[in-house]
Amino acid sequence: MADRKPEGYLEGRPIHPESLMMSYGYQPELSEGSIKCPIFQTSTFVFRTAEEGKAFFELAYGLRRRGPNEPMGLIYSRLNNPDLEVLEDRLTLWDEAEAAAVFASGMAAISTTLLTFVRPGDVVLHSEPVYGGTDFFLKHILPEFGVRVVGFRAGTSPEEAETLLQRLGLADKLAFILIETPANPTNALVDIAAYAQLAQRLSGERRVLVAVDNTFLGPLWQQPLRHGADLVLYSATKYIGGHSDLIAGVCLGRRELLDHVKVFRTILGTMAGPHTGWLLLRSLETLKLRMTAQMKSAGHVAKFLASHPKVAQLYYLGHLTEADPDYAIYQRQCSAAGGMIAFDLHGGEAEAFRMLNALRIFHLAVSLGGTESLVEHPATMTHADVDPEERIEMGISPAMVRISIGVEHPEDLIADLAQALEKV
Ligand SMILES: *Cc1c(COP(=O)(O)O)cnc(C)c1O
Repeated sequence: MADRKPEGYLEGRPIHPESLMMSYGYQPELSEGSIKCPIFQTSTFVFRTAEEGKAFFELAYGLRRRGPNEPMGLIYSRLNNPDLEVLEDRLTLWDEAEAAAVFASGMAAISTTLLTFVRPGDVVLHSEPVYGGTDFFLKHILPEFGVRVVGFRAGTSPEEAETLLQRLGLADKLAFILIETPANPTNALVDIAAYAQLAQRLSGERRVLVAVDNTFLGPLWQQPLRHGADLVLYSATKYIGGHSDLIAGVCLGRRELLDHVKVFRTILGTMAGPHTGWLLLRSLETLKLRMTAQMKSAGHVAKFLASHPKVAQLYYLGHLTEADPDYAIYQRQCSAAGGMIAFDLHGGEAEAFRMLNALRIFHLAVSLGGTESLVEHPATMTHADVDPEERIEMGISPAMVRISIGVEHPEDLIADLAQALEKV
């Protein structure tokens, strides 16, 4: 449907993404006037004629170039499906991307994208910490395919990372830089523009690509493509889905790159199904409302935690000060602090567990970005398989608690935290 979308302009003025989330890329007259995009719960699509089927396949397999107004025909739901196509069009708006691909999970998006662009002998440079599944893929799966993987701690300058690569004799083999910022659970930041410049410096005949996992702040509060990234990755399970009721992922970027990613998605079969696509279309209609409410509430909750005597340290982007090395990056790169907060209690695991077990409104569960507030213990849950020494180095202590703020009234969240902190 990408080819039939109405333009996102009103009298020459661009329409805001949130205003387009109910209509962009979808034409009711093609679906019996249905105001909402139906769920195209189908595996395959009927060709009107054999000639049409042939023409669709020629395009799908890149056997000839697409004509100026020629639509990408619908063939089979592993290749394309109207729910995913409308969703992909809408997702491009927030990140100002040319193209998007939706996947069955965030991990499907991350693994398919890396498999598209790295080959045996290549080097991947990545920030640390990264999401546990990403960490496993980088450290245990890519090396099996002859890829060298080098990590750098969030806070490392690109010059230091370059020196590290040179010391290892790997600078000329660099193919891909993967950044996760803010880092989970500490909210440490990585300077996207500075690493995009490093990629440019180290590019030879083949360009070194920079991908950013934008799950924590995107797509509302951080747009990596504006800062020089080539690709943006999401676990749409989190804020984009936003209701803790689905698993999905996204990759966005230039059309030329996404065309390659989509070939791999088709062959690996990592696309999302139509029902998930439809749920995500519904989620996108309220994405800005939800993320704005969550961001504002997080500000109130963080203010309460910052002055609480049982809280030893707070990790929240909204409280960075000029003295903090991340402050300048935050000012340049992020437009709001988002809804994720971590904090250390005085004490250790026992104190953290007493608090987790006492909370009544916060649900004790991993994941984030949903309408309900969640709380978890990184050291024994999301980051349990990180090497214990490295875990401490990354600042993930047994006394740390991570919270994801939902859409409840902030006064209720603060009252819940207050009563649970009493029991620590
Ligand atoms: C959850 C998450 C992932 C993995 O996404 P799934 O949808 O669970 O596969 C990747 N990156 C980040 C930052 C995440 O929070």
